[in-house]
Amino acid sequence: MLNVDLHCHSNVSDGALPPAEVAARAEANGVDVWALTDHDEIDGIPEAREAALGLGMRYVTGVEISVTWASQTIHIVGLQFDDKNEDLRRGLISTRCGRERRAQEMAAQLAEAGIPNAFEGALKHVGNPDLISRTHFARYIIELGVCKDVQEVFSRYLIEGKPGYVPHRWATLKDAVTWIRGAGGIAVVAHPGRYDLYDVALDALLNEFKRYGGAGVEVVTGSHTPAEYDQFATVARKYGLLASRGSDFHAPEESNVDLGALPNLPPSVTPVWHDWRL
Ligand code: AMP
Ligand code: MN
Ligand code: MN
Ligand code: MN
Repeated sequence: MLNVDLHCHSNVSDGALPPAEVAARAEANGVDVWALTDHDEIDGIPEAREAALGLGMRYVTGVEISVTWASQTIHIVGLQFDDKNEDLRRGLISTRCGRERRAQEMAAQLAEAGIPNAFEGALKHVGNPDLISRTHFARYIIELGVCKDVQEVFSRYLIEGKPGYVPHRWATLKDAVTWIRGAGGIAVVAHPGRYDLYDVALDALLNEFKRYGGAGVEVVTGSHTPAEYDQFATVARKYGLLASRGSDFHAPEESNVDLGALPNLPPSVTPVWHDWRL
């Protein structure tokens, strides 16, 4: 069976390694089919593609778009699109803008909570100045010794109701799916188990997503528990969605799951790659 990993990050967004090093780590871990899915940014693709093909992996273009839906942040993964598509590129630029101002507001809140200079501190961890994210603040807070790991940071800071949380309006669900589809790609709901969405709201999200042409949902991801693999396999079947698999790897010693190191999809679902020429 092919080892397919269709979700991970480089330092072009909030991962710690450059795209070529992520590719090398994927290959070393036995990945056969690989996509880099940086947040709201596809500038890592040329380096990722060249490295992947040089290592003999099958390469798939990818991105993870931040969306605001019903006041929540939802992530939509796009796969196998034309990375030269101008509408997609423009859409991602518009989604990225505002991150710097948000980061300054986050830093102001953190300063009041006793963590000074967080903007400058987070920037030291940033590989792409257009993409300063909460993960970079988390790394700075750990560097200071205030928290021991990312999980602790995201329980004490940077989330709703805690210091350093600044709400932000991302792309709309319709725009994100339309950009991906317009570029010939496949749209996939990322890590559905991570959202505060139960039956009725999840039903509304998936129906709306399908209406715009969305086709897949992540079932086996580093963000799900084994019980959620089964739960979302059932969801994929119920909604006629293809199932995806991806580690959501960000950094060694930081991510729950390493590249390629996930269980296979349950046999009851149709993989998002079922009709790809592999
Ligand atoms: P942002 O796009 O700036 O809101 O940052 C979102 C990123 O923060 C996600 O892609 C994750 O990498 C990270 N993140 C958010 N919540 C958590 C969490 N509970 N544990 C670990 N990482 C998280
Ligand atoms: Mn991330
Ligand atoms: Mn995500
Ligand atoms: Mn991700």
